[in-house]
Amino acid sequence: MQLRYNYRLYPASAQRAALARVFGCARVVFNDGLRIRQEAHAAGLPYVSDAELSARLTAAKAAPERAWLGEVSAAVLQQALADLNAAYRNFFASLKGERKGPKMGPPKFRSRKDHRQAARFTANARFKVLANGKLRLPKIGDVPVRWSRPLPSEPSSVTVIKDSAGRYFASFVIETEPRALPRTEPVTGIDLGLNHFAVLSDGRRIASPRFLRRAEKKLRHTQRSLSRKQQGSNNRDKARGKVARVHARVADARREFHHQLSTALIRENQAVAVEDLAVSGLARTRLAKSVRDAGWSSFVAMLEYKARLYGREFHRISRWAPTSQVCSACGTKDSPKPLHVRAWQCQACGAWLDRDINAAVNVAKAAGLAVTACGAQVRPGAMLLAPRSEAGTLPKPRREAA
Ligand SMILES: [Zn+2]
Repeated sequence: MQLRYNYRLYPASAQRAALARVFGCARVVFNDGLRIRQEAHAAGLPYVSDAELSARLTAAKAAPERAWLGEVSAAVLQQALADLNAAYRNFFASLKGERKGPKMGPPKFRSRKDHRQAARFTANARFKVLANGKLRLPKIGDVPVRWSRPLPSEPSSVTVIKDSAGRYFASFVIETEPRALPRTEPVTGIDLGLNHFAVLSDGRRIASPRFLRRAEKKLRHTQRSLSRKQQGSNNRDKARGKVARVHARVADARREFHHQLSTALIRENQAVAVEDLAVSGLARTRLAKSVRDAGWSSFVAMLEYKARLYGREFHRISRWAPTSQVCSACGTKDSPKPLHVRAWQCQACGAWLDRDINAAVNVAKAAGLAVTACGAQVRPGAMLLAPRSEAGTLPKPRREAA
């Protein structure tokens, strides 16, 4: 299986200028390809094949107004087209319902104002990790890298990224063999929620950690301060840079939390089950922002690849399973519950159920996992008395592959 390993890059100023050219050329090629296909589609012509698109790129480089494309590695430009082709394939697979995971829209034009600028160097581009620890990129130079952990094997490609805070990263793809952990007994269902980040079928509630909430608070504060600055002023530019840097810190803190939690869950359980696409269902509602901020889909993706890596079972449950309406004790389906109903009593068996834990138990049961419904049952009124410290704690895991 393939894993990504990310490291910070520190390009010198001439290298930053060269990278800016690479990002720009990759963007132009991607957009040119997208435009050719869109125009063909609008004119009722057949889909322009990958080979024809590649041939047109080669022809375009001969034209004087696109001659500057020759200043960057040709393999990087071919890769930009390959990315466009992959985006189209994902979109078509989504249309046909063949794609697992979130639905993909059609490819969109890239802009120089995008928060993330990126270009991919494959083996064809002949990038190289040098003995002195620098990363050699064709037509850019030897770029210093901070190796935060060792690269386990020869990478097949590297994506160079510049984020909105102006930081550079190298993201390597590494082919890795799964390393199964010893078998363990526990299994768990996970309900991803808005009040808590996650609720487990054994009754534990997991809140976002304090470092993340603190970073998010700081982000809201700097965003407010930006909105008070005058349009077009120097202060506004400065404030925008500050927002981008705080934003990058929040994203880092969130990723760190997702890594810790997903590793802990995979280590302590033989099988985990989560609800599929709850995200895209909710994302169309006004809850969209908190859903996006909670970053559930990246968390679920981590659970999935770590389950594969460590030989655990991973289950996605159809989003149409009415997990919050079915009694996890007796299986009777009740009426839909508005979000403010945190606990309810089953009319068939009389069990009092905690909404979130009941859902987590149902997710586990729908995946065929043997969990008990005990955790889901509450005494009437217990919800109101639940202490603030109810958030579940998990053992702190080791740092994991990013
Ligand atoms: Zn019941």
